[in-house]
Amino acid sequence: MDAAAFFRENLLAWHAGHQRPMPWKGERDPYKVWLSEVILQQTRVEQGLPYYERFVVAYPTVRHLAEAPEDDVFKNWEGLGYYSRARNLHAAARYIASDLGGVFPDTYAGIRALQGVGDYTAAAVAAFAFGLPYAVLDGNVYRVLARFFGIETPTNSPAAKREFSALAQRLLDSARPGAYNQAIMDFGAGQCTPKQPACATCPLAAHCVAARSGSVARLPVKARAAPKQSRFFAYAVFYHGDTVWVRPRTGNDIWQNLYEFPLLELPEPPGDTAALPGLLLSRFFPNGAPPGTALRGISKPYRQTLSHRVVTAVFCEFDFPENFKVADFQQNNLSGFQQIEQFKLKKILAVPRIVAWFWEGKTVTFGDI
Ligand code: SF4
Repeated sequence: MDAAAFFRENLLAWHAGHQRPMPWKGERDPYKVWLSEVILQQTRVEQGLPYYERFVVAYPTVRHLAEAPEDDVFKNWEGLGYYSRARNLHAAARYIASDLGGVFPDTYAGIRALQGVGDYTAAAVAAFAFGLPYAVLDGNVYRVLARFFGIETPTNSPAAKREFSALAQRLLDSARPGAYNQAIMDFGAGQCTPKQPACATCPLAAHCVAARSGSVARLPVKARAAPKQSRFFAYAVFYHGDTVWVRPRTGNDIWQNLYEFPLLELPEPPGDTAALPGLLLSRFFPNGAPPGTALRGISKPYRQTLSHRVVTAVFCEFDFPENFKVADFQQNNLSGFQQIEQFKLKKILAVPRIVAWFWEGKTVTFGDI
């Protein structure tokens, strides 16, 4: 038996005794398969599970998702991060409802053409929902293949995708693509784990190059990633009574459509956060803040790590006087902001995680800088 046949057969045999029960496993409804795959991208299963269950209840069919208001979809997505996934999900659902008569595409090319669907998701939906012979390639698959076959190509290099895709496709059990894909992903998650894989009990160990050559800890190889970009945000939280001002983020940047307070992005970390309130007021009220505006407090710095960036944010809170005129606000550099009741923020309007952290922690002492 050659290595490929050994790998395939033992993998499937292993899976027969190591199934992880999940609500989407065995699911053949392409909409639900797609939903689960999009939710689980760059997300741990434990974290994604409640979101999947929430979405399936809130939007049981692709038409329900298509007809939902965007804010509603974002609200249900809140906390999961990578909001472009929610935006793409919603756009693709609308496209299916309006252009495809509500019928999910049933070919790899049709699925791959949906907004936000890449090679991995297209292969997963094609194989799980329609039994089409497409091999998935995710982090688990890269790791298992790199170790078993002793592949030294850095998995984050441009050449790796071609090499690993071709190998994954060659290994696929095309009579049972769904079962095979599930098996290799579960094997990577449960047996050939990133740290301390269970080589001693592994049914593939006899032909595993990494295990035989002592290179398990070294494989897969990853090229050094570029350092994350640091960004520094100063937010102005303007209160008037029980209201506050926010707007959705626009432009080709992080957190599109999520609501935030008036923002001043700084080119470098503020040496002294005590200077931020003055900077914010002069940015948003170039002709002077409304008389009687009072600084309520300066938050501690909050830090959120994203895939390519680290965002540090400080929130300066201001109270407008009772006689404050909304027109004063609009006439300054604040047009486009909406005055909303405070309870709506986070409860009804989706916000970036860093804003949620501030909003939830508001009762803690300020000034911890
Ligand atoms: S022997 Fe170890 S490294 Fe090789 S496939 Fe099995 S768990 Fe992974």
